[in-house]
Amino acid sequence: MKLEKLNLEGVEDKRPILIAGPCSAETEEQTLQTARELAAQGVQIFRAGIWKPRTKPGGFEGVGTEGLVWLKKVKKETGMYTSTEVATAKHVYEALKYGVDVLWIGARTTANPFAVQEIADALQGVDIPVLIKNPVNPDLELWIGAVERIYNAGLRRIGAIHRGFSSYDKKVYRNQPQWHLPIELKRRIPAIQLLCDPSHIGGKRDLILPLSQQAMDLQFDGLIIETHCKPDEAWSDKDQQVTPHQLNEILNKLVLRDMAQSTESLTDLRKLIDEIDKEILEALARRMRVSEEIGMYKKEHNISILQSTRYDEILAKRVAMGESLGMSTEFMRVMVAAIHEESIRKQMDVMNK
Ligand code: PEP
Ligand code: MN
Repeated sequence: MKLEKLNLEGVEDKRPILIAGPCSAETEEQTLQTARELAAQGVQIFRAGIWKPRTKPGGFEGVGTEGLVWLKKVKKETGMYTSTEVATAKHVYEALKYGVDVLWIGARTTANPFAVQEIADALQGVDIPVLIKNPVNPDLELWIGAVERIYNAGLRRIGAIHRGFSSYDKKVYRNQPQWHLPIELKRRIPAIQLLCDPSHIGGKRDLILPLSQQAMDLQFDGLIIETHCKPDEAWSDKDQQVTPHQLNEILNKLVLRDMAQSTESLTDLRKLIDEIDKEILEALARRMRVSEEIGMYKKEHNISILQSTRYDEILAKRVAMGESLGMSTEFMRVMVAAIHEESIRKQMDVMNK
């Protein structure tokens, strides 16, 4: 894929690329007021949802086309670029008709290949930046598939937005960050510009700064942050919106660290990591060979492969041991389960040979 940067004239290509504005355009007054305050702070790209995908019926579903007139006014009055979410071909045609500069595809839409294809078809031959949010489910291929569909329609200015993944567990985050997924997306498509949406990941104002910092430390290119002139009165997502003033404070607190300049001590430490990884893999391979021998023994003596009491014992002991060595329970569980699964697979091979 030969992607290009978002390339908005007059927007400096420096980290973080910033998009800010309300979750939804609610009234002309609220949209313009928020935009004016943001523009006064130097924000160059404005966001506002015009059509809102709501979990349950009866919620505020966006003002529709009327709001596009307000976005046009924002552009005219403040000079900011405007952006909104599109979920259907009709949204695309309307947004283009009113001169919206950047489109994004929402998380629920990315999860649906029919909808993404419909959007791609509507965008055929149009040169506009499109940002693709991750699908609600943690499926990297589906996310990449959506990028490919838009790319195949001839668009090149494609970016991605990490907004976290739905989960039953909402204790800390509204959507689990699962940082390894956007990192893997960037590894697979290195030229894609990657933005983080800390508002929808955290679901709470207080989490915007730490999540934004984490994104910057992971070399994300930009941030999209929900900002409202009166967050507590917002018609959607009020707990996660901040005022333009609060946004400014958050941005001032962000520490931007450079891409690792390979200093000598860093190079040495990385060599050490390479060595240790080699030792770990060799030890694992030895363990697998022992496993195969056990498999042969079980085959000769007609014993079944999975001895669940033995597995329970291994799991409990290894997790406790890992914890005492300073590793998390969750990490130990995942690692022991993965090793055990590979062992079982090896034994199956032996048994069925
Ligand atoms: C939004 O950006 O307001 C939105 C609806 O986001 P998401 O698609 O990430 O839920
Ligand atoms: Mn929102």
